[in-house]
Amino acid sequence: MKICDSHLHSEFSSDSSTPVSAVIEKAIALGLPKVCLTDHYDIDFVIQDESDPTMDFKLDTPRYLACLKEMSELYKDKIDVRFGVELGLMPGIEEKVRNYVSKWPEYDFIIGSTHLVRGLDPYYPSYYEGRSSKEALREYFECILTSVRTFDDFDVYGHLDYIVRYLPGGEKDYCFKDHADIFEEIFKVLISKGKGIEINTGSLYKKMTFPHPHIEALKMYKAMGGEIITVGSDAHVTDYICYGFETVVRDLLTSLGYKYYTTFKNRKPEFNPI
Ligand SMILES: [Zn+2]
Ligand SMILES: [Zn+2]
Repeated sequence: MKICDSHLHSEFSSDSSTPVSAVIEKAIALGLPKVCLTDHYDIDFVIQDESDPTMDFKLDTPRYLACLKEMSELYKDKIDVRFGVELGLMPGIEEKVRNYVSKWPEYDFIIGSTHLVRGLDPYYPSYYEGRSSKEALREYFECILTSVRTFDDFDVYGHLDYIVRYLPGGEKDYCFKDHADIFEEIFKVLISKGKGIEINTGSLYKKMTFPHPHIEALKMYKAMGGEIITVGSDAHVTDYICYGFETVVRDLLTSLGYKYYTTFKNRKPEFNPI
């Protein structure tokens, strides 16, 4: 059975213009039995580039969920469409996130992600100014640790070392060992809360040599007893749906000793044989 994609963006995300129907049709063409869309919602996002105010990462949730309902009905004989969201998490929005998630019980799956650190997006060079990559990485991971401790309204934490995509010196500036202590804490909290992580292949089509998180992080998660692990391409265009799943991800999960990967329905994990 094909590995299903649980991290996908459509035109409901500020940074994608792909119609929901195109995402679903591509998933059907790839032979997936189910698929989960996870459009962006970053509550209180700080617009980074004033010249482009459309990049606010707001989500028109009523319209988004209505569209997903309509599409899931339309395609129900061909594929099981799941309703997901990628929520940007950061200190100060805990109550807003709680209220949002309790307001929309329609969601099957919620990815929690760190996109901003002190109001800065590591996508932009200003985040790295005046400090080493090691310091920039450290602050990003500390931010994730704070989020996994303070938030409960998510199922898996997204793209744990996503910042590596944008390091000024690229992935060679990333040494997992320098941050292994923080990863250990992050995994301890996630596992004790019954939450999981994802393997995110967005890095592979951005020319990195490993998916998020680094294989050493995945080894640590497995050794600590982490069992909940979803798989997502983070595709914003249909070409990247399931990118690397049947090659890199299948080999990686098998070599790590996983017999299952996870999908979510009604916020509950399902374990699918690999
Ligand atoms: Zn993200
Ligand atoms: Zn994403």
